[in-house]
Amino acid sequence: MTQQLLDISSQFGSPLYVYDSSTIIKQYNRLTNAFDSVDNLRINYAVKALSNLSVLKLFKTLGSGLDTVSIQEVQLGLRAGFEPHEIIYTPNGVSLEEIEAVAELGVQINIDNLSILEQFGTKHPNIPVCIRINPHVMAGGNTNISVGHIDSKFGISIHQIPLLLRIVENTKMTINGIHMHTGSDILDIDVFLYASEILFETAKQFKNLDFIDFGSGFKVPYKQGDIETNIEELGQKLSQRFNEFCEDYGRSLTLAFEPGKFLVSEAGVFLAKVNVVKQTTSTVFAQIDSGFNHLIRPMLYGSQHEIINISNPEGRERFYSVVGYICETDTFANNRRINEINEGDILCFKNAGAYCFTMASNYNSRYRPAEVLFHNGKAQLIRKRESFDDILHNQVEIAL
Ligand SMILES: *Cc1c(COP(=O)(O)O)cnc(C)c1O
Repeated sequence: MTQQLLDISSQFGSPLYVYDSSTIIKQYNRLTNAFDSVDNLRINYAVKALSNLSVLKLFKTLGSGLDTVSIQEVQLGLRAGFEPHEIIYTPNGVSLEEIEAVAELGVQINIDNLSILEQFGTKHPNIPVCIRINPHVMAGGNTNISVGHIDSKFGISIHQIPLLLRIVENTKMTINGIHMHTGSDILDIDVFLYASEILFETAKQFKNLDFIDFGSGFKVPYKQGDIETNIEELGQKLSQRFNEFCEDYGRSLTLAFEPGKFLVSEAGVFLAKVNVVKQTTSTVFAQIDSGFNHLIRPMLYGSQHEIINISNPEGRERFYSVVGYICETDTFANNRRINEINEGDILCFKNAGAYCFTMASNYNSRYRPAEVLFHNGKAQLIRKRESFDDILHNQVEIAL
């Protein structure tokens, strides 16, 4: 794989995102296999993790649906060939107008506040909606990414169910789905199952459900020693509980998930070239032809992406701080043990499939990276590197 990545980087240049379709397919199959005792399972891939059209098309071939958070993501999904009914729209804090426009397209909408629910139900009582519940469960330790807790802006609090039921009754609208998404990083299956019980309890109060959506938040390992959600164990326990629930409910419902990271994180790598090796009084810096404009997760969340020197994989290990080239602190790794780095080497950042390219920007007026999909033994460009025209695009020059 190392030589293959070096070849890809010399063919397509750097910095570059490379995605391996076989890893995406493997993860998708792992998830569906874990829940194979459920009659109706629906995986809606979370587009915001990695939204390239070719990646969406790959998910379409697997039989996946899509989870979207903006009308633009819905439009990307339609462009990739998904039917409207294969898409769920789970926005937060967007306007009634946008929600109406998405519903107009025939996409399943998921509403996460009572104000919009009441307005939408009053105007469109015949369009069934899903509701996003906040079960107030903290799944994981990092408050940036745990969205189920009491102060979270996401979802309708379970404590507001009485008011929610009154709105549904008054407007005569139909609730066809119940949803939760407690945020990334579910460390503990028991926490997930606990939140699921709250969801089942809520679901009982709605008589016209078609599906229950358990969101995502599956954890994938980023560095050695990281915990990974045991999907197989979760699948076994939740499937059984879900099937029991359906029996009590009197109807076979669809069990839905909307994973992003689990499906694409490990499929991606980010390749960047070392411009300068700079020794200071305290540190050896390896400065690459990139920055947080291309991969912001380490600076934004403190994420630790494993870094491999694929140009010198057998070299003696030394300690480096890997930093970027933008005029701002843009540290990818501090004091990390990496095979000896020389100027011109290609560094490979692992787990770069999810929330990496989609969070890239043009800061410092740099071009966003190109993207390549490795599929059926072939590396194909799926997004061109930007050019100066992209930097000028939409700028309006006025006479001064
Ligand atoms: C971001 C998001 C997801 C995907 O989360 P991952 O941690 O990438 O699996 C799923 N559902 C909703 C509503 C989201 O906002």
